[in-house]
Amino acid sequence: MFLTISTTGTPERPATDLGFLLHKHPDKAQSFSTSHGIAHVFYPEASAERCTAALLLEVDPVALVRRGKGKGRGGAPDAALAQYVNDRPYAASSLLAVAMSAVFKSALSGACRAMPERAGAPLPLRVEVPALPARGGAELVRKLFGPLGWTRVEAEAVPLDSEFPQWGDSRYVRLVLEGELRLADALRQLYVLLPVLDDAKHYWVAPDEVDKLLRAGAGWLAGHPERKLITSRYLSRRWSLTRQAAQALELVRLAESDDLDVDHVDNAVDETEDTEEKPVPLAERRRTAILGALRTAGASRVLDLGCGQGQLVQALLKDPRFTEIVGVDVSMRALTIASRRLKLDRMGERQSGRVTLRQGSLTYTDKRLGGYDAAVLSEVIEHLDLPRLPALEYAVFGSARPRTVLVTTPNVEYNVRWETLPAGHVRHGDHRFEWTRAEFRAWAEKVAGRHGYTVAFEPVGPEDPEVGPPTQLAVFTTTAAADDRPAESTDKNKKEAEAA
Ligand code: SAH
Repeated sequence: MFLTISTTGTPERPATDLGFLLHKHPDKAQSFSTSHGIAHVFYPEASAERCTAALLLEVDPVALVRRGKGKGRGGAPDAALAQYVNDRPYAASSLLAVAMSAVFKSALSGACRAMPERAGAPLPLRVEVPALPARGGAELVRKLFGPLGWTRVEAEAVPLDSEFPQWGDSRYVRLVLEGELRLADALRQLYVLLPVLDDAKHYWVAPDEVDKLLRAGAGWLAGHPERKLITSRYLSRRWSLTRQAAQALELVRLAESDDLDVDHVDNAVDETEDTEEKPVPLAERRRTAILGALRTAGASRVLDLGCGQGQLVQALLKDPRFTEIVGVDVSMRALTIASRRLKLDRMGERQSGRVTLRQGSLTYTDKRLGGYDAAVLSEVIEHLDLPRLPALEYAVFGSARPRTVLVTTPNVEYNVRWETLPAGHVRHGDHRFEWTRAEFRAWAEKVAGRHGYTVAFEPVGPEDPEVGPPTQLAVFTTTAAADDRPAESTDKNKKEAEAA
């Protein structure tokens, strides 16, 4: 059973970094004993330009028989043995997925102490599985890998015997995937989808398989059009487990759903502008206002919290005064788009050293967000359910505590001026609330008071004499260091955050 993972590189970002990310040195061939046999990891090629890691699992039939005892389902012949006793012992089956999880454990989790930013960024990847048993054939392979961000998904049926094409195709395909993905995401997809395609899970499916599936599926499974088939096959059609997984995925999907619709009214062109020139979209005005406020604050190390598809990160990168830019978002899909927009992998080392994209939720405190000059929350708070807002408040103002915090949110009073917006509607399907100027002011002042900040308000976009501007911006500033903040900031909100 065999698969290869390749990447390309440059002298500054050598392809051999793959060795760090996989935690396996390119100069060595290594062998590991796994529950189904010996797994070998070696590098058929390892240069700065190209590096390929190969995983070969030598199945131990005796171990399989031993493990298989009493585990075959419904008196059927043991699936694992049937898999081994076939014409192609090198075919990648679910056993290979198990070996992968044992041998590339840290890489699957996305952890890499030596190169955290490389592990967090998409790489040009090529995965090849020369013989993959695929129940459902090439078509299903394309359906499964197609929506996952690969630019090339090739599944070519392998003939039963190349000398006798008239015999037709075998149940194997040759799989080639190419695209720019984070290594951990690629590995997690394979970990789930190899057994799904194989559709003959060799071991008894235990309840913790649901957790394994959800963990490996984080960021891609909930939104996958074939999630039902994937879940059901992965859990060997155990109905109660499948239902459990489906419910969990549904929750994730709702949480992720989706701030990425193109018909984001916020981005609509501001039609009230009475000039000959092209009117400036509101989103651009917002970025201009944010950049201005950051410069005024003298910030150089900036967090973009809820960075979405990375438009602000891109604008920040253009100004060298911003030396460190961290974009955080809960949506993997948004981050994938952001990293493509920024062309992170093709950036020179100087530029790429300035920027990090990271998946995370703002309703949890995160030590890594401490010590920055400024944090931006641009059109983010209205995406949280109101009861979750105190948790975000604590994570940002109580825990991360940058000197400056910029928060923008729609001014709901202005909605009557949007011609395309039916009365009483919010601007975007995922907005949980939209505030009047008075409501935003009341919230912001309370937050500022609780955490030792002062707050000032600025309009963004054309200000209407009656209903105000379309977007409201609050600029929070503190001079208090982390330890002399008001006691309330640490206690009361922490409790609220925990309760939420
Ligand atoms: N800041 C961007 C995107 C706004 S859309 C802009 O101004 O255009 C809101 C973003 O917040 C989405 O990308 C969404 O995924 C993210 N988001 C919502 N809830 C979040 C949470 N709890 N943690 C992190 N990001 C969150």
